[in-house]
Amino acid sequence: SINDTARLFALPPATIRQWRRRWRQGGLAALSDEPSLDDPQFPILERLRALQEISLELTRQTSFDDLCRQAVELGRARLRFDRLGLFFLADEPGYYRHSFGTDENGNTVDEREEFPIQWRGPDELEEVLSTGSNIILRQDQPLFSGSGQMIGWGWNALALLWDGSNLIGFLSADNLIHQRPLQPDDLEILKLYGLALGALCSRRRSEDLLLKERNLLRAILDHTVDYVYVKDLQSRFIVVNQTHVNNIPGVNSAQDMLGKTDFDLMSAEQAQSFYDQEQEMFRTGVPILNREEAFMKDDGSQFIFLTTKVPLRDSNGKIIGLVGVGRDITDVKQAEAQRLELALERERIQLMEELVTNISHDLKTPLSIIKTNLYLIERLDDPERKRAKLEIINEQTLRLEKLIQDTLMLSRLDQTERVIFRSVNLNALIRQVETDLRLRADVRQVQLKLDLPNALPACAGNENDLWRLVANLVENAINYTPAGGTVHIRTQQEGNEIRIEVEDSGIGISADNLDRIFERFYRADKARSLDSGGSGLGLPIVKGVVEMHHGRIEVQSEPGRGSCFRVWLPIDQPH
Ligand code: ADP
Repeated sequence: SINDTARLFALPPATIRQWRRRWRQGGLAALSDEPSLDDPQFPILERLRALQEISLELTRQTSFDDLCRQAVELGRARLRFDRLGLFFLADEPGYYRHSFGTDENGNTVDEREEFPIQWRGPDELEEVLSTGSNIILRQDQPLFSGSGQMIGWGWNALALLWDGSNLIGFLSADNLIHQRPLQPDDLEILKLYGLALGALCSRRRSEDLLLKERNLLRAILDHTVDYVYVKDLQSRFIVVNQTHVNNIPGVNSAQDMLGKTDFDLMSAEQAQSFYDQEQEMFRTGVPILNREEAFMKDDGSQFIFLTTKVPLRDSNGKIIGLVGVGRDITDVKQAEAQRLELALERERIQLMEELVTNISHDLKTPLSIIKTNLYLIERLDDPERKRAKLEIINEQTLRLEKLIQDTLMLSRLDQTERVIFRSVNLNALIRQVETDLRLRADVRQVQLKLDLPNALPACAGNENDLWRLVANLVENAINYTPAGGTVHIRTQQEGNEIRIEVEDSGIGISADNLDRIFERFYRADKARSLDSGGSGLGLPIVKGVVEMHHGRIEVQSEPGRGSCFRVWLPIDQPH
């Protein structure tokens, strides 16, 4: 409105009304050709138009420094001030520092270097702030050069620069060079210029700051070892960092990737799987976290990738794309695999060493018994006593044979080679074990009881190994059960598995020993184990067979009351 415009220009509304009338009648020409109301030399309209043009020009400056230099230069040339200078708030509150200014010859100078002191700000500031007039005028002032020397007298005016809410500096003007007396418009024009400059400077400053931050962010992005990218809802790349560019074959710059999708950059199959993943994430909003993905390189080698993708949302929470971070973990993975292999190898060697130590010990005992008895036989005449010695030799030979067989079996189980599985009828197998071990049970006066359901599915496995498994459990149950006790053998289907249970009413196993009985050569009850011809390899073999059949084993035991070994084996699934 007329009043607002009048207030903005600090002119009487009548003047504005007059301009408007003229403009309607004769357009812009009618305005500019009119002499200024107050001074025919510099029509205010011309200066206002110049002000507008300068402001436009200044918005195009690409840096804050250029903006300040141009503000001084253009202001002087087009707004017709003798000298202009800019001051900005220093770090210390209330203090100001020179920016660009004008020397005594009318040249623009960078006064930041030349005049690096801070000054307290004008004394009149308080008063100007309280009246809101935005301008300080001092008549008949000493005027100074850029270096602070007094070089003349004249008027000096300071327009306040605001960033919207805070005072950020001053624009100063004087008449040192031409000594032209202050014109009524000078103050208004200067004030307007100060207002425009304040806004421009603060905007440029924050833009510079943003740019600096953006560049910093960009530098960080480009120098991280991770691939960082942004994709839109069509899975097209919108942002990619240098690391990503460097690692995609055939891509030389970000431009080669922007706007493209994975279909342009990798095999269709791979691209499709990523595309599906991403579209799924856009639908559900569920991020993809630390997913390991394997890629094929051009040379056929594989590389492994750890990928995280999270939805990118607008300020309303609507998904508008995704941010992805990927890391090449091929080397890490390889090192990990090597470490694992090394650890396994070490474990194998250690087991081997233990085995050798234990075996040599277990071999020595029967061998020395055999040797002694052979020696005695040679010197004995009594055939009865000779036979007794031979019997002992026979027993020890059997023990040796068992030890060797068990060791061989274990070492076979250690080898991870695939065995051919057949359908095995466990009930029949258990009946066979019972037949084979009945004599031994009778000798020890232990009763064997079978509880086998009629309809038991077959299990997939190796019949000989499974026979060994059941036989070892039943042998142990017989060996560690005192005369008069019972051993129950049960089978039962449990879901996709068959459970075999060997329960005895024997001496049981203490909690400490329970953890260790599956170790090779471990014997909880040494005397009894040796007495019964045990090798200390029975349960390790059981465990090996169970693992080979993808089953599991559990033991429950209470010393003095008995033990129960349960084995689960997968049912043979018809193919
Ligand atoms: P061993 O040849 O000595 O029987 P195993 O590996 O078969 O070796 O068993 C390891 C140890 O576990 C045995 O020495 C014994 O102390 C204990 N053990 C195994 N089965 C039973 C059981 N049914 N009752 C009590 N103790 C058992």
